[in-house]
Amino acid sequence: MNYLSTRGHADRKRFCEILLEGLAPDGGLYLPETYPQVDTATLAKWRTLPYAELAFEILSLYIDDIPAADLKAICAKTYTTEVFGTDEIVPLRELEDGVYLEALSNGPTLAFKDMAMQLLGNLFEYELARRGAELNILGATSGDTGSAAEYAMRGKKGVRVFMTSPDGRMSPFQQAQMFSLQDANIHNIAITGVFDDCQDIVKAVSNDLAFKRKYRIGTVNSINWARLLAQVVYYFAGYFQATASNDKPVSFTVPSGNFGNVCAGHVARMMGLPIQTLVVATNENDVLDEFFRTGVYRVRAAVDTHETSSPSMDISKASNFERFVFDLVGRDPARLRQLFVDDLGLTGSFDLSADPAFKQAAERFGFRSGRSTHADRLAMIRDTEKRFATLIDPHTADGLKAAREQLTPGVPMVVLETALPIKFAATVVEALGEEPARPKKFEGIEALPKRVVQLPADAEAVKAYIAQHCD
Ligand SMILES: *Cc1c(COP(=O)(O)O)cnc(C)c1O
Repeated sequence: MNYLSTRGHADRKRFCEILLEGLAPDGGLYLPETYPQVDTATLAKWRTLPYAELAFEILSLYIDDIPAADLKAICAKTYTTEVFGTDEIVPLRELEDGVYLEALSNGPTLAFKDMAMQLLGNLFEYELARRGAELNILGATSGDTGSAAEYAMRGKKGVRVFMTSPDGRMSPFQQAQMFSLQDANIHNIAITGVFDDCQDIVKAVSNDLAFKRKYRIGTVNSINWARLLAQVVYYFAGYFQATASNDKPVSFTVPSGNFGNVCAGHVARMMGLPIQTLVVATNENDVLDEFFRTGVYRVRAAVDTHETSSPSMDISKASNFERFVFDLVGRDPARLRQLFVDDLGLTGSFDLSADPAFKQAAERFGFRSGRSTHADRLAMIRDTEKRFATLIDPHTADGLKAAREQLTPGVPMVVLETALPIKFAATVVEALGEEPARPKKFEGIEALPKRVVQLPADAEAVKAYIAQHCD
């Protein structure tokens, strides 16, 4: 399998070459040259496989530069009952007739990002050992991504993590999750500033090419193809649990921010998994909902990005969206560049409303969308607790709200549960007046010793810290 850039660069690369890279050299995103097709005989064979074996089967269609036995061992080591809490790994539970929640949040940090990041940690360790190389991951987080990356990379050989976060702005639970890690290869850096300052620092350091090369700086953000690929697996696993045979359509609703999660659903659908509809759920930051309703993609400025009670979906620009638009415009890199480089670069938006391709988003690719507000989330959390005795987090609540607006009789609707309520306790308390349950392993973590340094919002200070801790 070869990978190409959405922006038309002539290079073709193999999986392990793009594993440790971010963007393609022309600023595009990597995609497989074709989507492997899965027929009904294959689906029948896969239906009964344990999760780790299903992951191996799907990954092997996209990875041909890791020996099969090694890839199998990596999957087996990643998707275990100990790490994810159940034998099913992503158990499905029915809320009411035809509406399901797929649990993706029982990994180490209680959010779905563990599903991909845990695999990435093992793939990185494997590939770095094979090359005799090292990698220093530099990131910025407001919560979920940073903790998922740290729990995936802790103790891994050849990898260090330098994770910046805005000092004092994460929830006490999220701070405790990250800062209580005592592993020598994990560095928490609390920046005096806001999340945008952290992102600016990461950009400034990455733009210093000499520093980047000397200290082998890498990232683990959501444009990484391996992360997206890992997420494809749970669409198949959810499908098998929601159906008794492989001729039945299923729909999925996905709480969305950077469009990584739902893009994995798109890939699963392109492979031939019988997905009827993919519902993109947003909060008040509705760039994606606006696109699917109107054909206009209009990125927001930082000042126009709302701080909401589903903060992991507070994005102004969906970094994986380019992958879907590439398929939408018939994989034409010139058209793609016109939209993402010329139009977006000049005006901050592009408009496909008059382009016949736009209709295809719904008709051919099955996309729908929805949007919710803080009041909707509270109502959805209360309603789900009252009628089904089930606690959901605010992001999953955004999903459930959008899902209810897109139900088709006879077609199961699977809502992806993207975090556990304990991670966003304040909103759950606001809705219900009670604290959500806390898994045993996180009892009392706020009282544990913290390993974190404070630095000013200054890229030079962060560079100096990295240089000092690289040997
Ligand atoms: C990251 C995240 C999302 C958004 O996922 P994308 O892949 O960026 O669309 C939604 N919910 C939670 C809880 C998250 O952590």
